[in-house]
Amino acid sequence: MSNSNLIFKVSSLMEASTGAREEYSFEVPLEYDGLNLISNAIGKLEIMKIEEGFNVKVSDLKVKVEVPCDKCLKKIEEEILVDFAERQYLMTEPDQTLESKVDSNDIYLVNKKEQTIDLGEFLRQEIILHFPSIPVCSKSCKGLCPICGHDRNVKDCHCETEEKVEYKPLAALKDLLK
Ligand SMILES: [Zn+2]
Ligand SMILES: [Zn+2]
Repeated sequence: MSNSNLIFKVSSLMEASTGAREEYSFEVPLEYDGLNLISNAIGKLEIMKIEEGFNVKVSDLKVKVEVPCDKCLKKIEEEILVDFAERQYLMTEPDQTLESKVDSNDIYLVNKKEQTIDLGEFLRQEIILHFPSIPVCSKSCKGLCPICGHDRNVKDCHCETEEKVEYKPLAALKDLLK
């Protein structure tokens, strides 16, 4: 799976002096394994030349995701919003023999040959970080019956959950009155 639409040309900034920057707005389809994204991602991008390469800022990133309700498993739409995030894209791989060894997942490199930067991994990390933690279809969702699995929002299944067992004496009384 690739997000080739997240590869940005930086040719105009390659030889620019430190501090030179370019800003863009983007709207791109995104596809990541295991993330059910159902809308284009929109956002703003600022690429600034720094000594080591580029400082890349993403702001107001919005994308819709389809996730199951935590209680009833119904599929619902949630919007992920990333207010602000930034990464440094380096011209050369950092010296990994140093004591401060960096996880290779956290190293972003400029593709010098193509004069591009790839935002794919950057955005994937941010989207996961901002994923809805316990999504529910509504605050009053009754969830699934723990006994028969029936969706209690649709219809009560009359399973004897502990809660109901408590009221049994009353039910017995009702029977007597019949
Ligand atoms: Zn629900
Ligand atoms: Zn049930």
